[in-house]
Amino acid sequence: MKLLEERILRDAEVISPDVIKVDMFLNHQIDVDLLVEIGREFYDCFADKRDKINKILTIEASGIGIACIAAQCFSVPVLFAKKGNNRNVGNDVYSSDIFSFTKNTTTTVSVSKKYLSSDDHVLIIDDFLANGEAVRGLKSIIDNAGATLEGVGIVIEKGFQKGGAALRAEGIRVESLAIIKSVKDGKPVF
Ligand code: 5GP
Repeated sequence: MKLLEERILRDAEVISPDVIKVDMFLNHQIDVDLLVEIGREFYDCFADKRDKINKILTIEASGIGIACIAAQCFSVPVLFAKKGNNRNVGNDVYSSDIFSFTKNTTTTVSVSKKYLSSDDHVLIIDDFLANGEAVRGLKSIIDNAGATLEGVGIVIEKGFQKGGAALRAEGIRVESLAIIKSVKDGKPVF
């Protein structure tokens, strides 16, 4: 997605060889006009699945805004996995442990069984794809609910990390709007 690549080149900060900060438009301050374009792009990428997808699943916090705007295009609800030990979610939950290499911590995320069932056809949406841990955690929640994963929509994939290739090799459909192949002289290369 050209508009997104241009924005990444203009505003993203490479803060370590494998961590890219996009606080200017996505992860702290949010450019809603750009988010609307991102939502439409996901809607186009998964045009063939529009009739199937009946729920979007993401993870708090940075996935929520993106998922909500995309969900408006698909006219489906957003479900977000909550972090922490079933905080406010109750005990009747599907949970998964997700390791974050950016924070070097493992977090338990949970989704209430009330909102995910074997009838659901789910699109996962997240801001970044690195090693694929977040997607795997969400997929295991979907699998435990007996729901169907229809695909994964990612705003920024870091193609130099292993997640995208590994998930695709497993047959999971992953559509990324920008894929950073490498970082050269402190700038992302697509
Ligand atoms: P993964 O689970 O694929 O290893 O990493 C994806 C998750 O970690 C995303 O939910 C995202 O929030 C966070 N993440 C991974 N890499 C980056 C990065 O370079 N920048 C930012 N801002 N978040 C990242």
